[in-house]
Amino acid sequence: APDRRVLIVGGGSAGISTAARLRRAGVRDITVVDPSDVHWYQPLWTLVGGGQAPLRITGRPEASVMPRGVRWIRKAAEAVDPGARTVTLSDGTEAGYDFLVMAPGIQLDWNGVPGLAEAVGRDRVSSNYAPEYAPRTWELIKGMRSGTAVFTHPATPLKCGGAPQKIAYLAADHWRRKGVLDRIRVVLVIPDPALFKVPVWNRELERVARRYGIEVRLNTEMTAVDGGRRTVTLTDRAAGTEETLGYDMLHAVPPQSAPDWVEKSPLADPASPHGFVEADKHTLRHPRHPEVFAIGDVAGLPTSKTGAAVRKQAPVVVGNLLDAMRGAEPSHRYDGYTSCPLVTARDRMLLAEFDYDLKPAPSFPLIDTTRERRDMWLFKRYGLPPVYWRGMLTGRL
Ligand code: FAD
Repeated sequence: APDRRVLIVGGGSAGISTAARLRRAGVRDITVVDPSDVHWYQPLWTLVGGGQAPLRITGRPEASVMPRGVRWIRKAAEAVDPGARTVTLSDGTEAGYDFLVMAPGIQLDWNGVPGLAEAVGRDRVSSNYAPEYAPRTWELIKGMRSGTAVFTHPATPLKCGGAPQKIAYLAADHWRRKGVLDRIRVVLVIPDPALFKVPVWNRELERVARRYGIEVRLNTEMTAVDGGRRTVTLTDRAAGTEETLGYDMLHAVPPQSAPDWVEKSPLADPASPHGFVEADKHTLRHPRHPEVFAIGDVAGLPTSKTGAAVRKQAPVVVGNLLDAMRGAEPSHRYDGYTSCPLVTARDRMLLAEFDYDLKPAPSFPLIDTTRERRDMWLFKRYGLPPVYWRGMLTGRL
């Protein structure tokens, strides 16, 4: 059984943690397919945009995180045929497998809002969601003394649901410290009926937004950008109204979906409008193709997509894949655990951790992370990155 071929599509947080754990378990034939030369630790991009971390510490060569003994094919996957058990690669060749782990992440749909693709990276529009734009967020925040700053959140599933609002709090705190917050109108656009779906943290975030005088627009999404005129169109779905607002800076988070080729593949969940890979929410195994597993942002699971969720999913995927290799039923279960470090100031953070039932699932039961804390901010900035590179990617944690 250890000689069965395991193919992992995607060498990001999910793909590399899975590969490392399979190696540790003695699986010999593992291939990772990923076209990227760089492996990114994306959770720090919020702090890059906030001027609290340099971009260069968030990326490392992909080769340096590839576990020893794992084959890396530096190409993109473009199609999958679960009947033939093959994946077609960008050069037209095929890679066969006995077991497939789908981990290519989520796709940023910059074209999903008219005008956004043209405006981002110029016209005072930035986004922490891409390494080429995150440093620009800080340039815009630093340069602002008055005017209107707009922060948006897409109406699709997204990775790190808290990230669109964290940067608004980091910016507002910076402007407060510089004494210019009174002269800046900060508008936070949220498509949901609340800032956060778990009530304890929602209450605290409402307090934070009030403290900075942020104008929160609930049930609202950005439906167009005009970079030339520096205006955004905001559509309020509850009221059925539309407004055009001028901005002096815009932090935009693009709509997101499964990668197009995944959405078109037979692995996509026919019930999901965004094409994520269908997976049993507890075993992470594909219901129609039992030799296929899904992990990370590409998995169609009813929980928030985060790296913290990946950390709890990896042992489940690996455990159940080893069960399958032995011909046994899956014995490991994922409970939907996810976590969102909600940065609320330049030195404060709330830590939201919860499961499929939105029940709080604290990693530090003795610490009250429903209150803004400095120790948690220090943990995010200085503690978690080494835990990620040395612990999670090596399969130790
Ligand atoms: P990724 O890590 O994105 O990896 C996907 C990999 O697949 C990439 O290496 C890519 O090159 C590769 N790939 C893509 N297409 C193909 C293809 N066709 N073929 C082969 N390979 C392909 N999470 C937290 O836990 N805490 C946070 O504070 C946090 N903050 C965030 C802030 C921001 C601004 C962003 C953008 C994300 C944040 N996240 C956070 C989310 C976290 O980064 C992701 O949830 C996590 O990286 C998911 O892992 P993944 O492996 O599924 O996807």
